[in-house]
Formats: sequence, structure tokens, C-alpha cells
Amino acid sequence: MAIGLEVKTYDLFINGEWTPSESGETFDVYNPTLGNVIAKVAQGNERDVDKAVSAARKAFESKSWRSLSISERSECMFQIASKIAENAEELAFLETISSGATIRRVSSYDIMSIVDLFQTMGRLIKSYVYSETLPVPPYPGPAHNFIWREPVGVCAAITPWNLPLLIASWKIAPALAMGNTIVVKPASYTPISTLRLAEIISEVVPPGVINVVTGSGSRVGEPLAGHMDVDKVAFTGSTEVGKQIMRLAANNIKKITLELGGKSPNILLEDADLDIALPGSLFGVFLHSGQLCESGTRLFVPKSIYEEVISRLKELTENLKVGDPLDPTTDVGPVISKKQKETILFYIQSGLEQGATLLCGGKEINIPGLNGHFIAPTIFTNVTNDMKIAQEEIFGPVLSVIQYEDIEDAIRMANDTIYGLVSGVWTRDVNKAYEIARRLRSGVVWINDWHMLRNDAPFGGYKQSGIGREMGRHSLDEYTEIKHVHTSLVPELKRRHWYKMLFSNL
Ligand code: NAD
Repeated sequence: MAIGLEVKTYDLFINGEWTPSESGETFDVYNPTLGNVIAKVAQGNERDVDKAVSAARKAFESKSWRSLSISERSECMFQIASKIAENAEELAFLETISSGATIRRVSSYDIMSIVDLFQTMGRLIKSYVYSETLPVPPYPGPAHNFIWREPVGVCAAITPWNLPLLIASWKIAPALAMGNTIVVKPASYTPISTLRLAEIISEVVPPGVINVVTGSGSRVGEPLAGHMDVDKVAFTGSTEVGKQIMRLAANNIKKITLELGGKSPNILLEDADLDIALPGSLFGVFLHSGQLCESGTRLFVPKSIYEEVISRLKELTENLKVGDPLDPTTDVGPVISKKQKETILFYIQSGLEQGATLLCGGKEINIPGLNGHFIAPTIFTNVTNDMKIAQEEIFGPVLSVIQYEDIEDAIRMANDTIYGLVSGVWTRDVNKAYEIARRLRSGVVWINDWHMLRNDAPFGGYKQSGIGREMGRHSLDEYTEIKHVHTSLVPELKRRHWYKMLFSNL
């Protein structure tokens, strides 16, 4: 049987066990490169969500996880990292055949980064400040006051299809590190690598600490985000669905973190080193066929170097090899689905209709022997910042090049978007770059680089790109509640003059 053609069946993963769905229904998962079914996965529903949440609650209340000492839990995080590393090849394969990510990227970057993430969380929880002591207050009377950080409880993670393993890990690792339990709902296009990841993690943590319920947004995502016994929901996906998650979370005022869309500006200054900046900018937009929330989709170029820049971008882009992501020589794989391909082609058409110039790409590619959804990396020039292709998230390999008059003009256009996930600046003058970085309204600014996420640095967006941060110490904060504990040091009733607010004759 050809590689990736074996159809495997997956149940839900609840309380440390493979568990059939209540309905017994399954849905098909396709390989976006070959177009064939690769897995049949249990279609969960509200009752399965209840079951998983109650397993997670029981695991949380049992204290078998959250009552471990910090060093024991840290050790578990390192053990999880080792187990992921041991299973790297299998995880990378599952990720590639379901998401279309190139095996070159997944095996050399994604898996390594996930291993490092669990280790980083294992390290960070050792230096995390769980308890602060405040100075004894002079007024209204002496007291001991502490601020404690405690786990939130049962967390939910709802993840998209573009980086299934990484994004699930960005939620699972900090949640578990802080002593929470979790129920994960992966995207229906790409659940299989997340299911395997949960199985691997469950070799280290007690049953119920990690659970996965697969199924659609309406049948699993909604009941999970709205569940009355879930304390926190962490969502990554489109801004549209993010808004629905906020409404559902309002049911019981859950804590939320949202990692949403982007339309990230990339500003090239006149003095940029084009030998790095141009491949760097294409790396910023075409990696994973542009299906990354932090893709640098709007490139701002000054008039003086515009012609040189676009001719060099064209040459570099036309040399990218589009094809089978399992082939280590492939640069750009397929897009996830027929629907996504059609969305991208719709935006390409809208660029043409609104008067942008197609520099290269702009069409679907048929690759002999493959039956997936491939789009040629596409560059539009003569784009104005108000065009649809410059304002709306396409989530495909499409770059809009926009000319600017001066840096004020560039910064104004860069910020003229509903999003604020990341931005970039390319220049030899780092001080100038810092000045610009201060004025860019986004959660991350990359100077002379792109896609440089760090597991010990926060990632997240301004404006409609989200709420809260993932990775780093800040992600640990997101998985805690804050408790203020006050101990009175005033033993006599008489000295408690503040009781006079109620008792006039005290
Ligand atoms: P999506 O919003 O359609 O779906 C994301 C997840 O939400 C999926 O698991 C889906 O099944 C679920 N879902 C859908 N409707 C739901 C509902 N009503 N209630 C609860 N859950 C529901 O996003 P997608 O198409 O899978 O992913 C692409 C989007 O994700 C893009 O907008 C991209 O920018 C964004 N993204 C953001 C980041 C980030 O870190 N900011 C990272 C990756 C992707």
C-alpha cells in the first residue's frame, strides 16, 4: 500500500483511553496532497464533550496532577518532551499527510520546537513567582498580605488546521505546566496528529489530565466553549469564530485567550540589505503556502527601490518548487482543501478586478501524480492598501506589494488594518527600526527577519488579532487565577477602627 493510503480509524481520547463517540458516527480526514481519505475519526457531540469535561474535572479535583511539587511537574514536562522526541518521525508524518506542511519544515522545525516548548515550560515553572508577599500596610491596620497564583481548573483548547501540533502544544504545555487539566478540540481537517500527541502525553500524566474530542465546530467546539464546567478556553482560529467563542464563553464568564487572524505589514526601508530582506520577506509570506496567521502579506516598498525589488521578488518566487510535501526538495506544498483553494482564487480574482497587477503566479497548478490543491505563489504589485487583497486575510500564498512615499506613509498604512498580530521592518539602521517598532500596533515586531517565534517569548495580537499571549512566562499567567490572601494582625476589637463604618459606638 502506498505511503499515506492506509485508512486508520480513531476514537475520542478521554480519561486516558480511546473512547468511541456516543453517536458512533465518524468523519473522513483527507490528505490534501493526494486527495485520498487517510483516516476515519469519531464525530463527537455535546454528550462526548460532557464526558471529557467531567474526566478533566475529576482529574483536576483529585489533585493527582496539580498537587505534584513544582519540581515533580517540571520533571513530567521534560519526560513529555523526551517522548515527543522519541516519536518525532511518526508525528511529523501524521502532520504532513493531514495538513500538507512540508516534511522538511515539520521534522526540522515544528517537532523540535514542540520538544523545546515542553522543556521551556518545565524550566519556567521553576522560576515562576507563585506567591508574592506585600509590605505590611500602615492603614487601616497591620496585616500580612499574599498574592497567590493558582491553576484555573479545567481548560479547553480549540485549534485550527494550519499548525495542528504546534498550536495544540502552545495551549497544552502551559496549561499542564501550571497544574490544569485540558480538553482539546482539533480542527476536523487535521485531528490525527493531535490525537497521537495526546496519547503520548498521557503516558506521563494521570488519566483525565489531557482529553481530545474530535468533531465539527458546531457539534463539539460550541458545547465546549459554552460549557458551564470549563473554566478557561484558549482558541486559535479566524476572527469571526473568535467572536463566537467570546459570546459562548460569556455563559459562565470563562477566562479566554484568542489567537486570531492577521494581515501583517512588512516594511522595507531604502537601506535594507536586499540580499537578505527579499528572501526573508518571501519566507515571511510563502512558508506553508501562506497559511500562517503571522504571514507578512503586505510588503511596503519605497519608490526608489521599487522596480529592483519587484523584479528580484519575481525571480525568487518563480524558483520555488511547488509539490508533494513529503518530498524533501519541495518548498511549497498544497493548500488544505478545495474550499480554501477556492477562497484564495476568489481573492486573486478580486485583486485583478480592483486594478492590482499580477506579477507572478495567480493560478491553480496541477501536479502530475497528485490530486491535491496547489496554488502558484502569487505576487500582486500596484496594490493600494484599501484593496480587498490588502485588507482581508486570504490565508494562501498571495503577497501584496504596496509602494510608499515616506516612512510616515508606510507606518500609517501598516497600522491601517483591523488586525495587529505581527509586523516587520528591514533596515541596516537598528535604531530607526526600534523607533518604527514602537509605532507599529502589533504584538510582535520582527526586525530583519520573520517567523522568529520563541518558546520563552510571548506571542499574540493587538486589535482584532486576539486577546492574551501564548508561549513564555506570559502564557503561564494565562493559565492561572490570582488570589489575594489577607491575614489581619490586629488582635483587639477596639483597634479595628474601620468597623466603625458599621458600628458607630464601637
Ligand atoms: P476556524 O476559525 O474556522 O476554526 C478554528 C477551530 O474552531 C476549528 O477547530 C473549528 O472546528 C472550530 N470552530 C469553528 N466554528 C466554531 C464554533 N462556532 N464554536 C466553536 N468552535 C468552532 O479557523 P481555521 O480555518 O481552522 O484556521 C484558520 C484561521 O486561524 C485563520 O484566520 C488564521 O489567521 C487563524 N490562525 C491564527 C493563529 C494565531 O496564533 N493568531 C495561528 C494560526 C491560525
